[in-house]
Amino acid sequence: MQSTNKALARSISVVAQPWTYRGEGGANLVIALSDEKSVLRFAKSKFVDKDVDGKIGEIAYFANTVMRPRLGSLFIRPLEIRIVDDLDFHNVRESVQPLRPPARLKKDMKSKKVIMSHDCTFLTPEYERNTQGDTISFEIKPKQGWHSLKASCSVDLCHRCLKQYAKLHKGEITSISKYCPLDLFSCDPLRMKRAIFDLFEFPCNRFKVFRNGGLIYTENIGTAPDVENELSQWLELDPHDSDAVDLMAALLCTALLSPLEETKEIDVMESLVSLDVSDSDRGQFCDTKSDPLPPNCILQRLLALQRQTEIGDNEAQIICDRLLNNIEDIEGLHQLVMWHPNNKLEHKLSPSEIEDVLQLQRFLLSVTAKDVSLLLTFREIQDLSQETFEHPVLHFRSVDKSFRLMLSVIDMDPKSVHRISSWVKRKESWLNAYFSSLKD
Ligand SMILES: [Zn+2]
Repeated sequence: MQSTNKALARSISVVAQPWTYRGEGGANLVIALSDEKSVLRFAKSKFVDKDVDGKIGEIAYFANTVMRPRLGSLFIRPLEIRIVDDLDFHNVRESVQPLRPPARLKKDMKSKKVIMSHDCTFLTPEYERNTQGDTISFEIKPKQGWHSLKASCSVDLCHRCLKQYAKLHKGEITSISKYCPLDLFSCDPLRMKRAIFDLFEFPCNRFKVFRNGGLIYTENIGTAPDVENELSQWLELDPHDSDAVDLMAALLCTALLSPLEETKEIDVMESLVSLDVSDSDRGQFCDTKSDPLPPNCILQRLLALQRQTEIGDNEAQIICDRLLNNIEDIEGLHQLVMWHPNNKLEHKLSPSEIEDVLQLQRFLLSVTAKDVSLLLTFREIQDLSQETFEHPVLHFRSVDKSFRLMLSVIDMDPKSVHRISSWVKRKESWLNAYFSSLKD
């Protein structure tokens, strides 16, 4: 199964065109090819001889074949596998070293097989038609939008806030971001707007702003007043008005709540602009109340995937242990869960073991859905009278402008059974920190 990717992979030349280092996470390093408006992802590893080519095949298969049909093709640009030659590989590896964050240096680029996809900080050519001016995009990492801990143990914090609270209690961080995912997914206009303000105020790696593909705001890059100024210019506001962030929040909340597959012409929820979040009531714990999200908006699709599993980390660990009675090792189990039903081990499994594999697939898919990022990319419509509304347009009456919107889900890497035991331990340590803090 995996070998078919190799036969299809085409080469890509990097040095023949301008490129920039875009950033990196624990598993991948990303560069942007500005002429092609595409990004290349190189797999990273700390082991010299680790086979990371297989990981690249898994990432492409999972995004294109598993996530894309479930979230909707409108929201996911296809991923392709490409090959870079030795010269390009060494050139990129040497050139990016001075730009890389020190904390990320223990893993280096390993694979010449790379993932190529559209750079979603720009519109695709079809979306770009009849647009003009700067392209502004916002990246949001929403995290888990529902409270899974309440059912299993009496904790009044959601998964993300518990993690923050535990890290603070253990002295690993010195302050907590106010952002709570339950606010963003609440469908309550005031709480959603507050969530956007919280992200803007304390972006960490959860909130980024790009202008024409360049990162202008996130943790340690840019400042809030500078970005407000950029947004004011983009929206052509009076320089003395200071409501650019209110307008941004209205734009983002509208995009997140709109059923973009069915509706291409959308009015921005302008009532949000004047909502005052500064003195909104914020309790000590996460607010678990929520209204149903509009069907088929991206938040509703994402939440449905996050909630589709019936099991948690502990049950997933029990299922893994049970399956390992009949499967040689954890890597064999990973391959089985990753590629089912396209795996040569299938015939060795009983019906109950196949049900276990399906349970693990649903569980791991929900973990990926809690870890994706959303990119909301906007560019002004050039001539409304020429617009065909094949792709979404947001009318922003109060600034007398209309914007093309492209909403993309990115960072959909498959999660592996290898990591389940560490999630169990991590959750236990957070809960210990939480309960010990209550005794203090
Ligand atoms: Zn929370």
